[in-house]
Amino acid sequence: MAGKGSGKDKQPGTRLVNAGRDPRWTTAPDTLGGVVNPPIWRASTHLYESMAALRKGRPNEDGHFYYGRRGAPTQWALAEALTELEPGAAGTLLYPSGVAAIAGVLLAVLRSGDVLLMTDNAYEPSRSMAHGLLKDCGIETRWFDPLDPAAFAAACCERTRAVLLESPGSLTMDVQDMPALAALARERNITVIFDNTWAGPLGFPALERGADITIMSLSKHIGGHADLMMGSASAEVQWYGKLRRTAQQLGHVVSPDDAALALRGIRTMGVRLERETASALAIAEWLAARPEVSRVLCPMLPGSPGHELWSRDFTGGCGLFSFVFKGGSSDARDGFIDALALFGIGFSWGGFESLATPVDPAPIRTASAWPLAGMAAEDRFGVRLSIGLEDPADLIADIEQALGAWGKA
Ligand SMILES: *Cc1c(COP(=O)(O)O)cnc(C)c1O
Repeated sequence: MAGKGSGKDKQPGTRLVNAGRDPRWTTAPDTLGGVVNPPIWRASTHLYESMAALRKGRPNEDGHFYYGRRGAPTQWALAEALTELEPGAAGTLLYPSGVAAIAGVLLAVLRSGDVLLMTDNAYEPSRSMAHGLLKDCGIETRWFDPLDPAAFAAACCERTRAVLLESPGSLTMDVQDMPALAALARERNITVIFDNTWAGPLGFPALERGADITIMSLSKHIGGHADLMMGSASAEVQWYGKLRRTAQQLGHVVSPDDAALALRGIRTMGVRLERETASALAIAEWLAARPEVSRVLCPMLPGSPGHELWSRDFTGGCGLFSFVFKGGSSDARDGFIDALALFGIGFSWGGFESLATPVDPAPIRTASAWPLAGMAAEDRFGVRLSIGLEDPADLIADIEQALGAWGKA
């Protein structure tokens, strides 16, 4: 049963307000009423009324009391909410972080002797997983140019069981031709795993675009307030059971308090994303006209790399993008970031507050060029901005004064 008003016939704002608010999770038994939000059920032990009830228990079904590791109503409400927001999903698993979600999915899909193809712009911890955990399990990873479906096809072999895609990619924001890549994968029986942290289901319905499994770091847009670590994986019916078994074997569980924070974040995610997208676009446009800037890497901006594919395949954006200085040095970039007054310096993104971090993809990439084609070799000092909910005019004024510090370095 879905929350009232969370149906696919409703607009995103309505679905975000109602997702997961099933009366089963918000109403106390034998009372006349309930509450708006699913209460926080803190529990390791779930109690049965009798031995007969214990014998009838359904430990392998979602939404039934059994033991804390299988969750309780707060976590079930969150998982259901995420499933309702993801067109095509049969169910959603929750993980203690986005990285745990990526590891949990890869361990469910791959086995010793398999080859995993990974996009060359993948989130850095996904790459290091390939060199460590996956390698130790006998799984080989190969990388391919995110912008070249032919390179992907050429990298496939009979041992290729899965591909990990991420678009727009971490740091460089490359947009992949997802329908083309998914079609190539499908022809070869390769499972498509998509890291959809950037757009989320409002901006990119990943399963509808050809993914078999879609992963999100809920620490970003869903949390939205820089105080939550969590991840999720949603899948169609043929993968959901396997993911669930593996998550349970790995002992993955999230706390009910964190699940309640994630549910709270969902309610305002739509308005936050709209505002952050509009502000990011205004700032990207302003930066693109500055003499200090070589390239703005913001797929939402017309003329920016990936804009055409983004316009074709995405239904929304967010506040995260990068730009690259014209020349300069690492020290000059540090000076720019230090001079910013309204941007925090820190990892993660998607919170209400703006952040800036340096971007250096060259030493990470192995299968594609950086700087991008058409960029001068000396244009390689990038900055990633996560635009929050501050007034964009104040953010632009702050960037403008910090560009003065860059120019003087
Ligand atoms: C942050 C991030 C993750 C990892 O999420 P955590 O919750 O920090 O573990 C995965 N993928 C992308 C694209 C991210 O930005």
